[in-house]
Amino acid sequence: MTTGSDLLGRYAHSMVQVFGTPQLVLASGHGCWVTDVDGKRYLDLLSGIAVNALGHGHPALVQAVAKQAEAAIHVSNFFTSEPAVLLAERLLTLAAAPEGSGVFFANSGTEATEAAIKLSRRTGRTTMIALEGSFHGRSTGALALTHKAAYREPFEPLIPEVVFVAPDDADALRAAVDDTTAAVFIEPIQGEAGVREVSADYLRLARELTSRHGALLVLDEIQTGVGRTGSWFAHQPSGVVPDAMTLAKGLGGGVPIGALVTFGPEVTGLLTAGQHGTTFGGNPLACAAGLAVLDTIERDGLLEHVSRVGALLDDVEVEGVSATRGRGLLRAIELSGIPAPAVMVAARDAGFIVNAVTPTALRLAPPLILSEAELQGFLSALPTIIDTVREATA
Ligand SMILES: *Cc1c(COP(=O)(O)O)cnc(C)c1O
Repeated sequence: MTTGSDLLGRYAHSMVQVFGTPQLVLASGHGCWVTDVDGKRYLDLLSGIAVNALGHGHPALVQAVAKQAEAAIHVSNFFTSEPAVLLAERLLTLAAAPEGSGVFFANSGTEATEAAIKLSRRTGRTTMIALEGSFHGRSTGALALTHKAAYREPFEPLIPEVVFVAPDDADALRAAVDDTTAAVFIEPIQGEAGVREVSADYLRLARELTSRHGALLVLDEIQTGVGRTGSWFAHQPSGVVPDAMTLAKGLGGGVPIGALVTFGPEVTGLLTAGQHGTTFGGNPLACAAGLAVLDTIERDGLLEHVSRVGALLDDVEVEGVSATRGRGLLRAIELSGIPAPAVMVAARDAGFIVNAVTPTALRLAPPLILSEAELQGFLSALPTIIDTVREATA
């Protein structure tokens, strides 16, 4: 039998090393649990970074994918399919998008961002505003909007005229947006920056400023969308209606899919026939997966479930935990005086998959189907996990 350490050795000799050494070699999953090739089980509190919304092996998703694979996996964009049309209609309804809105399907988050960048260019303007701490993807267009210097600098020059402003700073945003602004890009909660939320007032200000200056408001809901925060989309409680919204991660429940949703006929009409495209985007397999995810969230009342289970993380009274952040099942646990990467490793040894999203914070983005008992299992183990790290570093 091939062991995890065998495969990791071979990985090192067969892969481009952009991800460093993977933590585990996973073989299978069931519900919120995954099993590695050596047979050890883990509670998956990260769900492939907010992707496996229905956990692993969910019958609704498995059946939808199997059935669609038998019917047609791919048809190209010379043709379309019922799952594609149904998923687009469904997303527009859930986003409460007005008549004349539209969806462009891609295969990943960064491609959804690329589509939004091209949309913004069609305003005739070129300046884009993004937030410090932002993450919008790794392709060169999206990378220009991604704040982290270590990601961007090795690949410069990137597309110019991107202005970064401090998140939640009203004056900085007022000073930055003017009649030359093509678009403002905002994540309602910055996942990669450590689960940092901008206020509803800030979103409303961004809406007001972009409307006043004829710029687009683009909300990146790639990580926060599709029920992750207890609403269909994280911006919805603010009442803001964006010009465009990007989706990916949770939408396909693990099957790659991205989407750009454009709001209203004016914005939707900015991209015309021939101006953008993708071979795989909108394929019936991925769209059938997306429909199964949305159907299941609705049928099983997962939005309420996410809010209820996530509330267990509002206050974590554990020594070494100084604060928690986030909404629904997108959360950070801020640690004091103890390095998050070491806690991540100790948690893994104890059978829990979490992510050290910053040097001091753990990110939890579990399947939306996580039970209170499963989460409680982690919270009960956390003091011992933290103690293990304390003793090892003392
Ligand atoms: C993951 C992520 C992206 C990029 O998505 P990929 O599918 O990795 O290209 C963009 N924006 C946000 C907010 C993300 O979390």
